[in-house]
Amino acid sequence: MTARDPIADLRRIAFLLERANEATYRVRAFRSAAKALAGLPAAEVAERAGNGTLTKLAGVGDVTARCVAESLAGEEPVYLRRLVATEGSDLDAEATALRTALRGDCHTHSDWSDGGSPIEEMALAAVELGHEYMVLTDHSPRLTVARGLTADRLRRQLDHVAQVNEALPEGFRILTGIEVDILADGSLDQDEALLARLDVVVGSVHSGLKDERAKMTRRMLTAIANPHLDILGHCTGRMVSSRPVGVTGPGDRGHRARTRAESDFDADAVFAACAEHDTAVEINSRPERQDPPKRLIRRALEAGCRFAINTDAHAPGQLDWQRFGCERAALCGVPADRVVNTWSAKQLVKWTAARS
Ligand SMILES: [Zn+2]
Ligand SMILES: [Zn+2]
Repeated sequence: MTARDPIADLRRIAFLLERANEATYRVRAFRSAAKALAGLPAAEVAERAGNGTLTKLAGVGDVTARCVAESLAGEEPVYLRRLVATEGSDLDAEATALRTALRGDCHTHSDWSDGGSPIEEMALAAVELGHEYMVLTDHSPRLTVARGLTADRLRRQLDHVAQVNEALPEGFRILTGIEVDILADGSLDQDEALLARLDVVVGSVHSGLKDERAKMTRRMLTAIANPHLDILGHCTGRMVSSRPVGVTGPGDRGHRARTRAESDFDADAVFAACAEHDTAVEINSRPERQDPPKRLIRRALEAGCRFAINTDAHAPGQLDWQRFGCERAALCGVPADRVVNTWSAKQLVKWTAARS
């Protein structure tokens, strides 16, 4: 049998584990092994698989070495086969139609802030999912726990993204962006000029989530009226589950995730403002967020808002979590033509440019 690509198999396993929300250390084992092998000539990998010395390499353990040996023997690794066999997609027809209509993701993180993977790895996973674009939205300066990017680092990231884009397949593009903190007074936590340069701006409340109702409402209305803000991220800030969320890397915020009540604000006023200013309301797909809750999705729909169904992925496998958001959107009757990431990259950028 002809040999398979063992690195591709290891990466695929890592992706499926992340998608299934498995523990971080498991995912890391496969990603480290893929990285260790990527640095070696194929002949050496084959030789080591043959004489059983793969595990002498830093980052390669018994399980990953077995996968590599199976790949090289031309067999689908047993580990991969089991993962593929046990993962089901049981989306109903409407959710599937919505998922199929999505052409990109407007909220993703890399290891420049609190994500676990380099931009390139995130982009490759997005390409494999069939996306046409991925908006990179790392955090803003004041969110120091998530290594938020200063204006300087963000400028450097923009240069880096331009380079990465050169090397990516035609028909796919990383769009520039930010998940900017909505500060206590409703202003946005990044330079105006820089916000204006970005393709897409997601704005979220990450601090003072227990602000009293009138204050939180004012804060959100001020942000929504800001022409730089394109998408209102996870608007209630709630956390519905305390499960670790498979985030890898320096921030590793997943392990600190816990349940949290919704912020209190005047939802009718907020959604009316979103409709008025044509700011999209994010449907955040993360299993521990599920934000906004369905009753609020319905209210935003009635108010005439647009939506963005985003993953808020902090790792490549999480880029496939859009199906969770689609499920909730479909249950609330959100039609595809109200969802901004059913548009092409060109249409999306045209919309954001017209707004600011
Ligand atoms: Zn956020
Ligand atoms: Zn985020």
